[in-house]
Amino acid sequence: MARKRKLDLDKYKQKLEKKRTEIADTIKRLEGESSGRDRLSREVVQQDFEGGGDAALQAMARNQSAAMIGNLRDMLISIDEALQKIEDGTYGVCEVCGKNIPQKRLDALPEATMCTKCRTKVGPR
Ligand SMILES: [Zn+2]
Repeated sequence: MARKRKLDLDKYKQKLEKKRTEIADTIKRLEGESSGRDRLSREVVQQDFEGGGDAALQAMARNQSAAMIGNLRDMLISIDEALQKIEDGTYGVCEVCGKNIPQKRLDALPEATMCTKCRTKVGPR
């Protein structure tokens, strides 16, 4: 078990909630931009990809935003997990090795649930 340390949980909670709102807004915006056009864009990519025309570029941008939405959703999940950990009193503890996650890392990435070492081992989710 990790040694108890005093973290400014309110600060991280605020950071997480702010980030959560921003990400939710971004998802909404991206979904609005790409809604109803996904199927079309995929067809355009197939027809037009080699030509590298504007349609292909636009379609690529749309596919990118779909990938981005996926990433953002993952981030939302991580943020929710971190917020839950704050409630549970386990925030800031690596869920793999049980050691404290360095405060510097939490400042940069408040949704981190693993220390850098374990994160590298597990790889991106
Ligand atoms: Zn760890």
